Amino acid sequence: MSFVIKKNLLSEGKTKKIYTTNNSLEVLIHYKDSITALDGSKNQFLQDKGILNNEISTLIFKFINSCGIKTHFIRKINNREQLCYKVDIIPLEFVVRNIVAGSMSKRLNIQEGIRLLNPIFEIFYKNDKLKDPLINDHHAVFLGIISYEEINAIYRIVSNVNNILKKYFLDKNIILVDFKIEFGKNDQNDILLSDEISPDTCRFWDKKTMKKLDKDPFRIGLKEKEEVLDIYMEILKRLNVR
Ligand code: UDP
Repeated sequence: MSFVIKKNLLSEGKTKKIYTTNNSLEVLIHYKDSITALDGSKNQFLQDKGILNNEISTLIFKFINSCGIKTHFIRKINNREQLCYKVDIIPLEFVVRNIVAGSMSKRLNIQEGIRLLNPIFEIFYKNDKLKDPLINDHHAVFLGIISYEEINAIYRIVSNVNNILKKYFLDKNIILVDFKIEFGKNDQNDILLSDEISPDTCRFWDKKTMKKLDKDPFRIGLKEKEEVLDIYMEILKRLNVR
């Protein structure tokens, strides 16, 4: 295993910082102690949340890698940091819905909790000024973000990831309600599943009680951020049970 030297801050988002390393093809991703909701309008410090999300995302990416899906994840370096392949993030968020919740429930006035016979895929354009609007394939191609071939390849990966993650979580008594994933391109133009997968980016419900095991209660102000930390710890505990 080669030695990793953390170099310069490449970019900083709401919950992560990205650093260059001594290898130009690799970056260090640092998970911050912040919790956000409502497109970042709610953004608070939460001690040790970065440690939990780094560990949870590491376990999930390790599992996805083991299924043969190409991701940016290489290995966890320490409590807060992971080594990943450097990618240019494609500015699209791919959301998969297995059960109606969140923005779909509001937008279409459909009761939360309705199971979808076929998963619904949505694309959001990552653009702060426009507040990440919902778009479709044709908009994404028109905007010059991606080609039809690439978007079709991504849809196949998205479907694959949903199938394997649904089963992975169900084995841990967790229902995967919906989630968001992002993709990036490496220097060879390969498409890699990137960013993070954690209770920040997924809705999880307990299989038996249907209790929410994600940050939804924080989003709507039902729970204090500290209580959310307990929920994230519960997710980590379940992921560690084989
Ligand atoms: N999501 C995310 N980042 C975003 C927006 C949504 O990770 O900027 C995730 C969210 O956690 C949920 C799924 O994508 O698991 C669908 O979110 P939705 O469109 O319902 O929006 P929300 O109401 O959660 O903002």
